[in-house]
Amino acid sequence: MIDRKAFHTLTYGLFVIASKMPDGRKVGCIANTFQQVASDPAQACVSLNKQNTTTDAILKSGRFTASVLAQSSTMELIGVFGFRSSLEIDKFGETEHATDASEIPHLTESCVASFSVRVEQTVDVGSHLLFIGPIEEAHMIDQLPSLTYSYYHEVLRGKTPPKAVSYQADDEQSSAAPAPSPEAEKVEELIKAEPKYAWRCKVCGYIEYVEELPDDYICPICGVGKDMFERIEL
Ligand code: FE
Repeated sequence: MIDRKAFHTLTYGLFVIASKMPDGRKVGCIANTFQQVASDPAQACVSLNKQNTTTDAILKSGRFTASVLAQSSTMELIGVFGFRSSLEIDKFGETEHATDASEIPHLTESCVASFSVRVEQTVDVGSHLLFIGPIEEAHMIDQLPSLTYSYYHEVLRGKTPPKAVSYQADDEQSSAAPAPSPEAEKVEELIKAEPKYAWRCKVCGYIEYVEELPDDYICPICGVGKDMFERIEL
């Protein structure tokens, strides 16, 4: 049997995985699957959905960086890298970043550390490709707590992008969500102090605190229209 609850007990970090296209365009996305897999030589891997533009860029460049996201990362940053496509927008255009010796970008804002990996092995694991290789650069960017996947879900109330490894379509509608943390409960209490309505994006989880959304409303995080918002009572 497969008990889906077992998957929720796995722990992860959250990372911006970046690479560049042959024309030099910088691309990136969010993944929870970056990890060190060997110490001598130090090697790392990441698993990315085959449909991601970043996956295509890594196949062509043979390189990627992983920026370890800080707990203080904003939902806007996560929205841009996690829910938008690099085909539609220049994700690094408005994001502070630097490049490594191979001109692959990594974040310098909302970022704890960065790693540069040269891909030596690519393994087809079905929906995703697993990229493995030696770590060629590692830098501390800022002494901040790292963002964990559970903090993202429980405190920031973030959703899982459909192309993520851990996405299970049923989960987002299920009532089996983990109990809110004390921090999330505090936020909840503050909101409840003044009862009102708001609109929640069904794609990325962004909440707009207004009574009515205009017809031409576009989600500032993931770019979908008003029809993808649901009215919620606070
Ligand atoms: Fe959205």
